[in-house]
Amino acid sequence: MMNSKLRALESIPDVEIRRDEPLARHTTFRVGGPVGMLARPRSQGALFALLDSASHLGVPFAILGEGSNVLAPDEPLEMMVIELHLACGGLIPGSRTEHGKLLYAGAGARLRDLVGFCIKNGLQGLEALAGVPATVGGALFMNASTSWGAISDRLVQIDLLDSQGVKRSFRREQLSPGYRTMGLPEDCVILGGCFELDSCAAAVLEERVETILEKRRKTQPLRYPSAGSVFKNPPGLFAGALIEKAGLKGHRINDAQISEKHANWIVNRGTATAKDVLELMDRAENAVFGTFGVRLEREIRILTQICRNPAK
Ligand SMILES: Cc1cc2nc3c(=O)[nH]c(=O)nc-3n(C[C@H](O)[C@H](O)[C@H](O)COP(=O)(O)OP(=O)(O)OC[C@H]3O[C@@H](n4cnc5c(N)ncnc54)[C@H](O)[C@@H]3O)c2cc1C
Repeated sequence: MMNSKLRALESIPDVEIRRDEPLARHTTFRVGGPVGMLARPRSQGALFALLDSASHLGVPFAILGEGSNVLAPDEPLEMMVIELHLACGGLIPGSRTEHGKLLYAGAGARLRDLVGFCIKNGLQGLEALAGVPATVGGALFMNASTSWGAISDRLVQIDLLDSQGVKRSFRREQLSPGYRTMGLPEDCVILGGCFELDSCAAAVLEERVETILEKRRKTQPLRYPSAGSVFKNPPGLFAGALIEKAGLKGHRINDAQISEKHANWIVNRGTATAKDVLELMDRAENAVFGTFGVRLEREIRILTQICRNPAK
C-alpha cells in the first residue's frame, strides 16, 4: 500500500528520488536503516508539488537537514524523507539597512557555507555558529546556539510553509526563540531566513572563527560520528557533568559510547546501532535520575517522532 503511494510520488517532475536509501548516509551519527524514499526536490515548485501530493496521498514524511540532531531507527521505514539542499540552497545578499546589511539564506544551505560567505564578504553576526554542522533550516528550527550566540540573534524574518502548504513569513518579533527551539509548529517547512549583519574586516572574523573552532576542538569529541549534545542542560546545571558524576563517562554498549571527552555526547565508535544509542540514552537518564533526582530532557530527535502525516 505505502509502496504504491511512494511510487505515485516518483512521477512528480524535478525531484531527485532514491528508493530504500540508508539513513546512516544522511545523519551525522552514521546510524539508521533504509527509508522507503529519499526525495530532493530541485526547485521550490517541485517541493510544493511533492508536499501537496504527500498530503493528499497520506504519505508520512520528515524534513531532514544535515541530520546532525537526528537519530534514525535501524528498522526499514515506510515513509519519505525530504532534503532541501537543491530546492532552497541559495545565499542572496540584500540591501543596506540603517543598522547593517541584509542576507537571505535558503533553508537547504549549509550553515558552514553561510558562515564562510559572511567571513569572505566582511559580514559580522553569525560567526558564533562556526562549527555547528547544520543546514540553515535545521539551525533555524532548533535555534542553534553556542556560548557565543544564537542564530536568532541576527534573524529578521523566517519564510515557511504552514501545515496547509500556505507560504507565510514571520518577523523576529513574532517568534519566541528559546533554548533549542524557535517556537515554530512541528509541521512547518522552513524555506529560508533573512539576517541583518554588520560590516567587519574579514581578517577579524577569520580570527574570531578560528578561536571558536579551536575551543570546540579542545572540548568536543569530534573524532567520531555523533549528534552533538544528547540532552538539554537542565536549568542551572550541565547534563554532561551530571552524567559524569553518575559514573557513566566512557560507558559503552557495543560501538555506542558515552564520550570520554564530553559525557553529554554519545559517539559511534564504528558500527553502533540506533538500539545501542537509545539504550545508552536510557541508562544515562536512569542513572542521573537515580543519583540526583533530575530528569534529563532529550535534545536529539528520533526520526519517527518528527514524522508528519504519520500513518494512523
Ligand atoms: C558535532 C556536532 C556539534 C554540534 N554542536 C551544536 C552546537 O554547538 N549548538 C547547537 O545548537 N547544536 C549543535 N549540534 C546539533 C545540531 O547541529 C543542531 O541541532 C542543528 O541545528 C541541526 O541542524 P540540521 O540541519 O542538521 O537539522 P536536522 O538534525 O536534520 O533536523 C533537526 C530538526 O529540525 C527539523 N528541520 C530541519 N530542517 C527543517 C526545515 N527546513 N523546516 C522545518 N524543520 C526542519 C527536522 O525535521 C528536525 O526536527 C551539533 C551536532 C553535531 C553532530
